[in-house]
Amino acid sequence: MKRIAIIGGGISGLTAAYELELARQKGAAIDWHLYEASHRLGGIIQTTRIDTPEGRYILEGGPDGWVTEKPWARDLAIELGLESELIDSNDATRKTYILKDATLQAIPDAMRMMVPTDLAALEGSPLFSASAKAAYAAELTRAEELTATSPQHDESVADFVRRHFGEEVLTTLAAPLLSGVFGGDVNKLSVRAVMPQFVRMEQEHGSLIAALQASSKARGERQPQPIFTSLRNGIASLTEALTARLPQDRLHLNTPALHIWDDPRWQVILDDPTFEPQKVPHPAIVDLFDHVIFTTSVDTTKPFLAAIDYNRRIDKLLPTDASSAILVAMTWPADLALTFTIPQGFGFLVPQTTRQEPVISTEAQRSGEIPAFTAADTAADAPLLACTFVDQKFPHRSPAGARILRAFFGGPSAEALAHATDETITHAALTQLREILGPIPDPIHTHVRRLPRSLPQYEVGHQKRIAQLEALIADIPGLTLLGNAYRGVGLPDLIRDARSAARRQLT
Ligand SMILES: Cc1cc2nc3c(=O)[nH]c(=O)nc-3n(C[C@H](O)[C@H](O)[C@H](O)COP(=O)(O)OP(=O)(O)OC[C@H]3O[C@@H](n4cnc5c(N)ncnc54)[C@H](O)[C@@H]3O)c2cc1C
Repeated sequence: MKRIAIIGGGISGLTAAYELELARQKGAAIDWHLYEASHRLGGIIQTTRIDTPEGRYILEGGPDGWVTEKPWARDLAIELGLESELIDSNDATRKTYILKDATLQAIPDAMRMMVPTDLAALEGSPLFSASAKAAYAAELTRAEELTATSPQHDESVADFVRRHFGEEVLTTLAAPLLSGVFGGDVNKLSVRAVMPQFVRMEQEHGSLIAALQASSKARGERQPQPIFTSLRNGIASLTEALTARLPQDRLHLNTPALHIWDDPRWQVILDDPTFEPQKVPHPAIVDLFDHVIFTTSVDTTKPFLAAIDYNRRIDKLLPTDASSAILVAMTWPADLALTFTIPQGFGFLVPQTTRQEPVISTEAQRSGEIPAFTAADTAADAPLLACTFVDQKFPHRSPAGARILRAFFGGPSAEALAHATDETITHAALTQLREILGPIPDPIHTHVRRLPRSLPQYEVGHQKRIAQLEALIADIPGLTLLGNAYRGVGLPDLIRDARSAARRQLT
């Protein structure tokens, strides 16, 4: 009987458990157990459902959908019986705005991230200056030069975008779009890890605009698929459906893994969930496993690996930087929603170029001297990174006519606000939303979620480091690393990765 420990009960851990359970039920000699530190499963995924007389509000405290192009989350949802729950993003209202000169400017239609498929769509757009538009037009004519100079090595997203379109497109559009997904610094993010499709386009066509035009020609009249897919009742439906398929006695909540030893099977030391603080010494459970699958964040996984990584070769290959996020979801019922207007679209992004360093230094946080953060500080010191107009992006997330806005503080802003109260954070979000969108009444429900260091930064050279890491891990029998630090941060990638890692256990 092969004993397998899964550490962490987010989407990665639950998907791995599901795949192992399918095999176990078919007779595979597997005895798996999942250990989750907290009192709940789902990890970063968290859906809050608020039922009111006018209907249900669905507030996402983590991911709110996934990229449709990648099939693995959809496939899993269908397999779990959630096909009728799948919803597409409402692409008819798909406008996204950029805050520029204190007003919201729409990103022109026909853009795939920062690349236009149709240069005519840029005409008349106040988002770009004449020289940025000229840089776009020139890119189409520079195909040969761009193919010839396409680097053989990885580079930063900033360098890649600059080579194609110049500084203005980078700061006005590419940086906020990427920060909205990865929360990171485009000067450090690896283009090969976070925009591999554009690297391929450059290698094949030189010009990215030419590459997109060629693929839209090849697609012909076929309707493009919706950009995002989600679940009617929130993303947590997926983790709930996974959990429902798993034997409850194999899911151990409030049971953090504390330590591992390879001696010679894996000894996993777990905190005892029945621990009573007055009991000394602190009781711990030790269990023996043939295989350990870590699905925890890289910050959590690192110290575990230190116990077996004597010369720190693994440690040096793991991502070090991670970006924090704070999400503030707010709701207004239909009668209040009538009293203010929101532009039609999915939401807006705020370029962070003028952002100050957080007022709370890391030093102050470490020493515990954390100054009180007032809402008045925030527009300068903790500007919003983005806001989603939830009821317009996904249908069925709010009662008819009601509104949900989800404000997003990322990176330094999220760190600056990390120790502020929910009230201060909500006030900070609302103050800035009112400056940008105009008068907005106080919301009826608010929900604040802090996600410190939740998005690992895939810095230049990431893929090479991960390939080296995988080679080192392959030499350690019975160890697998899953989660968002390695081969993708999005739900589809994590699901694909967890399923294939679990299947490898069966061979
Ligand atoms: C703000 C934000 C928005 C996002 N939006 C999207 C989106 O719209 N679409 C998309 O596809 N992706 C999105 N992502 C990315 C995606 O949500 C995450 O990458 C994914 O949820 C991570 O899942 P995971 O299971 O790998 O890790 P986690 O969800 O972090 O799960 C790890 C689990 O391990 C547990 N744990 C920690 N320490 C221990 C221990 N010692 N022992 C046992 N258990 C432990 C934790 O409690 C946690 O439950 C978003 C991420 C963030 C932060």
